[in-house]
Amino acid sequence: MRVVGGVKRLAVSRFAVVGDPVAHSASPRLFQWLAQRLDLDLSYEARRVSVVDFPSAVAELRAGRWSGVSVTLPHKLAALEAADVRDPTALEVGAANCLVRAPDGQLTAHNTDLEGITRALEHHGVGLGGARVLLLGAGGAARAAAAAARRSGAQLVIANRTFMHGQALAEAFGGWAVPLETDTLAPILRETDILLQATAAGLDAAEESALPRGCVLHPGLTVMDMVYRPLWTRTLREARASGARSVDGLWMLVFQGLAQLRLWTQVEAPPGTADALHSHLAEGQ
Ligand code: NAP
Repeated sequence: MRVVGGVKRLAVSRFAVVGDPVAHSASPRLFQWLAQRLDLDLSYEARRVSVVDFPSAVAELRAGRWSGVSVTLPHKLAALEAADVRDPTALEVGAANCLVRAPDGQLTAHNTDLEGITRALEHHGVGLGGARVLLLGAGGAARAAAAAARRSGAQLVIANRTFMHGQALAEAFGGWAVPLETDTLAPILRETDILLQATAAGLDAAEESALPRGCVLHPGLTVMDMVYRPLWTRTLREARASGARSVDGLWMLVFQGLAQLRLWTQVEAPPGTADALHSHLAEGQ
């Protein structure tokens, strides 16, 4: 490792995001921008990998095709299982979104979504500690949010389209599962500090929201939407209109990406990188 302009560098390394679908992933733009900005000799590609082909992609990684991969849907559980070593955070969340290859081919599974969520909130002056959190969703992203809430000692309520999925998440992470219905959510929202939107509702659907009609947001709320395409989802537009603080999904993407960069290259991005990277990614949305 060497230090150039205050930034620690490694020699050329290849990385990729593997998932299905993967064509619309912002991760290639994210890492290509970081490589240029931090003068890192790394390449990053998107590789569409079906469930059937995931074991072959892992074999390629072990053989040295890449030095590490970002893992997205539907492989986050399979990545955790395929690894030789599992980082405690990945075990805590029960899913891996990052694999790191050691020189001998050994793979370590990590989860950087949890850090992405907590750092995105902290960047906006918001802490989960002791907060009353309403989490929408019960999929992979919601698991990371529930783990972050448990770690911080937040009070957690989970509402999901399929009630039993929310119930399973509440049982795994502590919390209280409720139906995703206006009558139930309206009084809970009045007592909520942080609303974490972790469903796929609103993805490529600007008028769709996971929040049922009639749910009213308030100025004391912080609303974080993990969907970032479009950037201003209906939930975030409603948050802004109600005077609530809004945190868009690119912030989570940025901070989980910086965590992956650190795991792969030991490079800690200098101050200001997250803001500049967010601006760059937002331009392309
Ligand atoms: P996932 O595991 O497939 O889970 C999807 C979740 O969304 C489930 O809880 C599902 O409910 C719910 N859902 C899907 N469509 C819905 C709709 N129309 N109305 C209400 N609920 C709906 O996906 P995931 O990995 O958790 O990802 C969720 C979202 O977060 C995606 O949009 C993804 O792009 C985004 N994400 C963003 C980042 C980031 O860095 N910003 C990172 C990870 C994920 P059921 O249980 O009823 O099926």
